[in-house]
Amino acid sequence: MAGDQYATDRRNPPLGAWVALWEPLWEPPPVVPLTPPILAAVSVAADPSGFLTVGQPVAQRLARRRLLGGDGPATLLVHGPSGAGKGSFVDDLLATAMCEAADPEQRPCNACFGCRHARARTHPDLVVASPERWRDDRGSGESIVEAARRWLAETAGAPIVARWRVVVVERADTANEQIQNALLKALEEPGDRQLFILVADDASRLLPTIRSRCQTLRLAPVEQDALAAWLVEREGLPHEQATALARLAGGHIGRAVGYARAPALVEWRRRTQHELLALLERGRADRLAAVRELLDDAARLSLGPDDTADQLAPDGGRPPTGVQRAAALAIIDAWVDLARDLAVAAAGSAHLAVAGELLPELPAAARRLRPDELARTAAALERIRTALEQNVSPRLALEVAMLEWPVLAIRA
Ligand SMILES: [Zn+2]
Repeated sequence: MAGDQYATDRRNPPLGAWVALWEPLWEPPPVVPLTPPILAAVSVAADPSGFLTVGQPVAQRLARRRLLGGDGPATLLVHGPSGAGKGSFVDDLLATAMCEAADPEQRPCNACFGCRHARARTHPDLVVASPERWRDDRGSGESIVEAARRWLAETAGAPIVARWRVVVVERADTANEQIQNALLKALEEPGDRQLFILVADDASRLLPTIRSRCQTLRLAPVEQDALAAWLVEREGLPHEQATALARLAGGHIGRAVGYARAPALVEWRRRTQHELLALLERGRADRLAAVRELLDDAARLSLGPDDTADQLAPDGGRPPTGVQRAAALAIIDAWVDLARDLAVAAAGSAHLAVAGELLPELPAAARRLRPDELARTAAALERIRTALEQNVSPRLALEVAMLEWPVLAIRA
């Protein structure tokens, strides 16, 4: 527990007070992400560049120029929404940076010591800074800020075998201001053999002074045909299923892989959207009552089938807040997509709806709604998602969303 950490710090009152000022710490991650990261299974690379991820031609070109050009690397900032495939893109960057192939054009070769250990994140010149790593060795009694400073200091020396010492800062946008300031200090005086890779969902939550020092690599949704072909090759899916999942994932590779590996996610999403459609015809009391059921259903899924009921409700009541927040975010994502699908269908293009044949009742509901009303709802849901990513209570966020959801006349 993070509480043990504070107990250690409190033995020294000035330090305890100092640490208290640094809250919020890095936010806890969801217990099990709804979209599991892509494993770095190295097989035959489809892309002649040696990158194993698909798409992202702009980000890939900029990154290769920085990593392989003569100027020496700038700090790289990889950002994009959850499920965009940041983890596997960073694996490609690490392999490119650490590959031992003599010809830069051949990097990453995906076969040498550097490539293999970069992708497995076991390379001796690699330091990974993340709240998860801090939690894993919290027995050391070190605060997360001290840990962050130590990781940054560890990259200061000369590389052991690679061209650079590399530090990957995961979830950089959720780091508190003190950690971001320590990072900024390191970025201001970079060693010529240091490479920093920052990873963020939302780049706007980084200090502007950090962003201005970075080469930004934004991960865009991948073109759906390319993503479907990649799913056929890498995940072994039948073509038809790959096409449906690529569409459902909105071109986000991490989400698509999550769906491919956990069909229960697709079924959960369909069930949630079906319930939300039914709530269009229900009053306030029914909507507020539905919030708890939706949250419990999503929380159960994020914990996975192997977890016990106690983890879901340790005090005999609600799931832990981190799980609830992840669950609420997943619900809001499905909800935003539903609002967009309804808007598309209301404008007469039901065949373009992402949910497709999974939600046959969608066109009928769309005929009773106005596109402008749906666009407003989608915008309100986006704002609720932002609030949820910060510190709003998951339940409150969903209750507000319920009141934004259009009300259809109840049919006799
Ligand atoms: Zn290599």
